[in-house]
Amino acid sequence: MTPLAKPLATFLDRLVLQYHRRELLNSDPLEFMTRYPDPYDQEVVGLIAALLAYGNVVQIRRSVSSALERMALLAERPADFAGQMESPAFRKKAEREFQSWVHRFNTGADLLKLLGLLSRSWSTYGTLGAHFTKNLAPADKDISGALNLLIADWSAWSGGASATPGLRFFLTAPASGSCCKRWCMFLRWMGRSDSIDPGLWTQGSALCTTFPAGRFLAPHQLIMPMDTHVSRISRYLRLTERKATDWKTALEVTSALRGADPQDPVRYDFALSRLGILDVCTGKYLAEICKNCQIRPVCHVGSGKNPVKRKKFGELTS
Ligand code: SF4
Repeated sequence: MTPLAKPLATFLDRLVLQYHRRELLNSDPLEFMTRYPDPYDQEVVGLIAALLAYGNVVQIRRSVSSALERMALLAERPADFAGQMESPAFRKKAEREFQSWVHRFNTGADLLKLLGLLSRSWSTYGTLGAHFTKNLAPADKDISGALNLLIADWSAWSGGASATPGLRFFLTAPASGSCCKRWCMFLRWMGRSDSIDPGLWTQGSALCTTFPAGRFLAPHQLIMPMDTHVSRISRYLRLTERKATDWKTALEVTSALRGADPQDPVRYDFALSRLGILDVCTGKYLAEICKNCQIRPVCHVGSGKNPVKRKKFGELTS
């Protein structure tokens, strides 16, 4: 592991201080999960909110809210709804309720099939966390293998290649080369525990009691969720030179960030993505915006056209 240049690490830490804050949660789909105190409800809502997190923020929020509202018409809690998805009679009622629901490439039928898979993981292993961590040894460097195996199980349970395109869009795996942004984000929520991330699958968590002995998800095993904002800003910071936003790039960016924090490389994710989500960073050099950006001294877009030329990381003193 190559240590990240000290000045870059320092600027990233400042960014975390500025943006990794609970009051900014309402700009993120994770906020839906925090509305529910029960960890089983959180596992369901987290999965829905993460896997629908594509498209614009307004659209995502509308679709997740609408899904949760429809679920609430048939069950008191999201976990009660998901837990009944293996019952044909309940499924029929759910299909009627979700007939008109749609989120871009996904229909209500896709979402219900996804909840059916979650329900089967629950009835087979106790929780989704138990299903995932049975394939994640403490010595595993990252989540690649466990995520591949979970997606392989769910793909087999849903009929393999005969699964609908909408369902397959939920079932992305590192083995396909995809950056698996939505799964990496879901796993960040499960594998980190602080004022932002709930850490449902971390050591000592409430759901951890359902996992195989000695199994849990550790922050150092997480991979950066490469959304469009994180991808381009990672390039500005030269955390990667790769143009494609794929699994290799996600590994490369995570590896670079391990150089700043080997135990918790994705702790920078929420702050970095806020730069794009909150329109702090437009992707262009705009003096009035860039001058207030914490990472400007190490961003080649933010400093490149400035009279004060971009310094090399090693020349920066603060
Ligand atoms: S310095 Fe400017 S271009 Fe660079 S990340 Fe900040 S806002 Fe974006």
